Amino acid sequence: MQGYDVSIGLETHVQLKTRSKLFCSCPTRFGEEPNTNVCPVCLGYPGTLPVVNYQAVRLTVVTGLMLGCRVNLHSKFDRKNYFYPDMPKNYQISQYDQPICTGGSVEIEVEGKVKRIRLRRIHLEEDVGKSFHFGRSSGVDFNRAGIPLMEIVTEPDISSADEAHAYLVALKAILEYGEVSDCNLEEGNVRCDVNCSVRKRDGSRELGTKTEIKNLNTFRGVYRALKYEIARQIRVLERGGTIQQQTLRWDDEKGVTVALRSKEYAHDYRYFPDPDIPPVVLRPEEVEAWRESLPELPSRRKRRFQEQYGLPEYDAGVLVAEREVADFFERTVAEGAPPKAASNWVMTEVLRVIGESGKRVSDLRLRPEALARLISLVERGMVNMPTAKEVFGVMLETGGDPERIVRERGLAQVSDEGELMEVVGRVLAANQKVVADYRAGKKAALQFLIGQVMRETRGKANPKAAARILREQLEG
Ligand code: ADP
Ligand code: MG
Ligand code: ZN
Repeated sequence: MQGYDVSIGLETHVQLKTRSKLFCSCPTRFGEEPNTNVCPVCLGYPGTLPVVNYQAVRLTVVTGLMLGCRVNLHSKFDRKNYFYPDMPKNYQISQYDQPICTGGSVEIEVEGKVKRIRLRRIHLEEDVGKSFHFGRSSGVDFNRAGIPLMEIVTEPDISSADEAHAYLVALKAILEYGEVSDCNLEEGNVRCDVNCSVRKRDGSRELGTKTEIKNLNTFRGVYRALKYEIARQIRVLERGGTIQQQTLRWDDEKGVTVALRSKEYAHDYRYFPDPDIPPVVLRPEEVEAWRESLPELPSRRKRRFQEQYGLPEYDAGVLVAEREVADFFERTVAEGAPPKAASNWVMTEVLRVIGESGKRVSDLRLRPEALARLISLVERGMVNMPTAKEVFGVMLETGGDPERIVRERGLAQVSDEGELMEVVGRVLAANQKVVADYRAGKKAALQFLIGQVMRETRGKANPKAAARILREQLEG
């Protein structure tokens, strides 16, 4: 890879969080029977008229404002003409030369270095249908046709597969913060076209010939496809070959890119303004109102978490990556939990459960106030850590209250002097040899005895109190 510069530009299609489609009132619900969420408009019947979904425009503008784009008060829709079996009208309604947003950037961090990926534009377009193939026949489901997509196009500023991945993660976090998309990858809410070229580092500024890998629907797929494609292009150049400008497909199973077709150009699409749709004209006051209601973005929030709660940068980064997780953490702190303890619990236990179950934080039966009370039990020495984790498990299942779980299951930590004395007496009597070792100077024997006390109490002894009483008994 040495001696080459890599340039990558991403075109990311994001499904907007609207209830209805972009130009008709059909629902956008996922996973319904094929061809049930359709009407004459999204099926492309002649004589029907599209009407622009105002929410889709608003969400695109909100995205532009979050990403520092220029919002164009005048934009328009164009027809992009091509034939494809899953596209009912033989043209797709998109935006050509007057998109809703231009410019802007996404900040990424790779190996401790912050970098700005510049954006070219964000435009709105409609999704197409989906083809299915059954043995010797095929079918098309048009439920997805007409669903609003926002296409976010970067400049070729990305220089590695890692940066491309970091860009997508950062972008997804911002889109989720702004509640513009659910960004549900399983449901195909985020799909990427990946453009990539390499160039020998010899002082020339011109970018190499690019290839475009179409329609990747996982971030891991983008990463793997890029790793492969970069290496492939360098190999071709090293052998004295040239890169063909091509459209490729990523075969995830085989782990290779496959040529689909030679590159198409804008003029192949015969773009022209859609005569059925009036231009989109926004009033400055309405854009300003949307600007004022923007949420705090992840990078700001991360800095605030470090300052306000004294969290290490790592913790803050993990917590803010998802808005719901960050909200959960903040609510736990607001309920009185010390920030670092709350951060530890959220980063280890809560995120582990999310990762294992695939659930969202809001689906958990665990409430922030309950977690705060559990943390308080640990802080006050009422339960030790292993017990607290056990209680946490019960809270997740039953949504129960930590104090009650501790009481009902007899899990309270034993700190009672008399009770501990009795156990210590028993342990010492049963381990005379270890006692003699300790008294002969083998101080490490104390750990063994503490372990015995914990065992006798099934882990409930307060370890500090147990150690103190043991030491008193051994040395007194
Ligand atoms: P096209 O007309 O082929 O669609 P565009 O110029 O519109 O190409 O760019 C599409 C995407 O490809 C953008 O994200 C852009 O940054 C990226 N891109 C353009 N040229 C290159 C290149 N030489 N190498 C890598 N990416 C590129
Ligand atoms: Mg393209
Ligand atoms: Zn419809």
